[in-house]
Amino acid sequence: MQTRRTFLRMSAVMMAGTQAGMLWAAEGEVLSGWTPGTLDIHHIATGRGNSTFLILPDGTTMLVDAGAIYGHTEYLIDARPDASRRPGEWIGRYVGRQLGAAGLSGIDRFMLTHLHGDHLGYVSADTPPAAKGGYKLTGVADVAALVPIRRYVDRAWPDYSYPADAKADFQQNYRSFLATEAKSGKVIERFKVGSDRQFALEHAAAKYPGFEIRNLAANGEVWTGQGDGTRALFPKLAGMKEAEYPSENACSAAIRLRYGKFGYYTGGDLVSDTNYGRDPWRDTETPAAEVCGPVSVAVTNHHGYFNANGAGYVRALRPRVFVIPAWDSAHPTVNTLAALYSKAIYPGERDIFATAMKPENRITNKRVDDLKSMSGHVVVRVPAGGESFQVMTVSNADESGRITGRYGPYAC
Ligand SMILES: [Zn+2]
Repeated sequence: MQTRRTFLRMSAVMMAGTQAGMLWAAEGEVLSGWTPGTLDIHHIATGRGNSTFLILPDGTTMLVDAGAIYGHTEYLIDARPDASRRPGEWIGRYVGRQLGAAGLSGIDRFMLTHLHGDHLGYVSADTPPAAKGGYKLTGVADVAALVPIRRYVDRAWPDYSYPADAKADFQQNYRSFLATEAKSGKVIERFKVGSDRQFALEHAAAKYPGFEIRNLAANGEVWTGQGDGTRALFPKLAGMKEAEYPSENACSAAIRLRYGKFGYYTGGDLVSDTNYGRDPWRDTETPAAEVCGPVSVAVTNHHGYFNANGAGYVRALRPRVFVIPAWDSAHPTVNTLAALYSKAIYPGERDIFATAMKPENRITNKRVDDLKSMSGHVVVRVPAGGESFQVMTVSNADESGRITGRYGPYAC
């Protein structure tokens, strides 16, 4: 019920927030659950890696990454909500609450952008073994222990041999976890570049013909924009030294989601770093962004780090909203934020949301003060039809789901 006092408080917040970016959250308001026809995208902020949970218009559910970083170094923000649980547990609980509020169960598919621990879960001396044995509970394995995952898609299944054997302890752990999941009947697939079917709606696709997820890039292979054709960016590995191989980040899987006029880009840790011009082929983010085309919302590559989010990426995507999955003092770096805000690259208005900010970054990176948010989950909600969207920031200090800011609606 909205009392007069609540109304007055809301009005005051609305007026105060008009210039600051259309902030109109009522005090104590909690994020409502997903409803059919709506597209919800939750950028989950644990301060310990990337994870994004999507509920698609027909109720198909999708998790992109489930990172977990352990220990505390001075360049990381504090763990959120706190360090009493592992990051993967916080993610699983967050997803569980969204599923419960929506009347849904389970995660239909997990997509891993690439094989790094801030996206799938590192292991530490304290990481506990899974009850069923064979692997340790971290990242995506922690999520799966709380919420069943039906299908897994990553860039390297089944051999994990490109460009080199993925044999770090956390990569071995992830592979053992997947092998166990496969044995219990779960579906595991390699990411198919160019496809618009691998992540099709699973429950009522015919009802939402304006919905599509297109696989843009992975392993240096990029969609051509024609049918499901692809082209290769990387040179052949034969004759290259292993130290010169494409980086794990450059191999990230990227997708474009479309719902009516709404468009969304996410591409893991794709980079535009070319070794200062020596190796143009190492820039995988620009070709991926160019074939993607303009979107409403874009996730910054590599957490807004210095070697990504170049002018080519910004120009091709030219979104209304950028989301920066951040937890480190270099997320985002000065050059990235300058490019994201540059009106020389594209003239349109844009709002930028970061899931975290280290105070020292604010001192070096003056444009940080132009961000719409610097803390908490960033939730994008697209009503049926995909004509507009809004952004809500949600507290990650606890599990209340309390809305801290509302932005939009933005026309697509
Ligand atoms: Zn990363």
